[in-house]
Amino acid sequence: MNEDGSRRWVRPKPADGDWFSRRRIVAYVLMVIYLAIPHVYMNGKPLILLDAPHREFTFFGYTFLPTDTLLFMLFLGILILCVFSFTALFGRVWCGWGCPQTVWMEYVFRPIERLIEGGRVGSMNIDKSGSHLHPRRLLKYAVYGVLALILAHTFLAYFVGAEQLKVWVTRSPIEHPSSFAVMGVTSLLVFLDFSYFREQTCTIACPYGRWQSVLLDKSSLIVAYDYKRGEPRMKGKDRSNAGDCIECGACVQTCPTGIDIRDGLQMECIHCTQCVDACDAIMDSVGSPRGLIRYTSREILSGEARHIWRPRTVAYPVALAGLIGIFAWQIGTKADADITLLRSLDAPFSEEADGRISNQVRVRIANRSGKPRQYTLSIVGAEAGQVIIPVNPFPVAHNQTETTSLFVLLPKSAFDDGQHAIRLRVTDGADFTTELPYNLLGPTGETGHTEKESP
Ligand code: SF4
Ligand code: SF4
Repeated sequence: MNEDGSRRWVRPKPADGDWFSRRRIVAYVLMVIYLAIPHVYMNGKPLILLDAPHREFTFFGYTFLPTDTLLFMLFLGILILCVFSFTALFGRVWCGWGCPQTVWMEYVFRPIERLIEGGRVGSMNIDKSGSHLHPRRLLKYAVYGVLALILAHTFLAYFVGAEQLKVWVTRSPIEHPSSFAVMGVTSLLVFLDFSYFREQTCTIACPYGRWQSVLLDKSSLIVAYDYKRGEPRMKGKDRSNAGDCIECGACVQTCPTGIDIRDGLQMECIHCTQCVDACDAIMDSVGSPRGLIRYTSREILSGEARHIWRPRTVAYPVALAGLIGIFAWQIGTKADADITLLRSLDAPFSEEADGRISNQVRVRIANRSGKPRQYTLSIVGAEAGQVIIPVNPFPVAHNQTETTSLFVLLPKSAFDDGQHAIRLRVTDGADFTTELPYNLLGPTGETGHTEKESP
């Protein structure tokens, strides 16, 4: 912020050094991956599809169905532990190298801004003029708008699939106003993020920057200024009592979050290495060794040896390996279908006009066999009564979860203390057969008074 509390717009000066070039390669690869994933299919499904309305999440050909709560929690646990492990070892490498905010901002939106507005100085001059209607700025916003549409539509394709998105895009908005509104709002948010909010997404909105205080320790890899070597910082030719920092300010001018790395490790530092490149160029020009700002650790900077093996770098990978093992075992032993038995949504049982007790049993079937299946249901243990199965066999498409109902009618005398045990047999006529126990509910005592409730 400026002293009067207004926003200080950050117009970083690009430092095109070795690290910037390496990051550029990574950034371009990540951009291609991001744009391509919704269009790449594996096992007939998009590589990643986060179908929230149906609670089905597909990753690399495997779809987590609503019945996969444990698997999905394990998967999320693995992702979180990966972040923990990676951060303990390599600090905020994700922020500087992999985060979409950094990648698109530094390698697409900022270069376009510099190109259209006449470099960093041109942008600062437009800022000073106070005119947001400057023709160059308007042109920049127009280009940003097109890019925001592309990014937002790609983002939405991760949630609805590229095919569905194509349908939305090619039809009149009047035919699908809600989808059109979602697309419009998402595109607007992307536009505002890259044109206005910018580095504040990292410094204010993103929780990861705050987590780093607990995820990093003094041995973690960070981008840092070597204060022992650099201080006392000083301008001028007489360097007899000076450190290596010549107080040129290049590291500050290039920082996309507007901080001074020489103030120590800060939450706002996204470890983008721009200050490393800027300072290396200065060190080259004054004939000093590179690395005044570099990848290092606080431990090394204070003169200690770096400890790779420490409690968190052992505990996180061990926990990670454990979770991956359980996850793989769960997937490997997963049956071709998940069957869940549910009670009636109304009363747990009812009494028919002829005095028999009727139980509705709802059967939810998640088909993960890879093909559409017809599931045949039968009841064992209700021979004294009648079983009504309205749809039998019951069809379920691949990767779908459907619910059907069956009704069991038994005389009151079949219930012992309000319960009667049966077994439900389900088979798909191919590889899958299972039998599940189930307790029917009925009246207790001779009066037929209902004492038990559905669990
Ligand atoms: S201090 Fe350096 S590494 Fe950190 S955000 Fe600024 S330029 Fe990037
Ligand atoms: S770029 Fe290097 S020499 Fe210049 S102010 Fe920053 S740390 Fe000092």
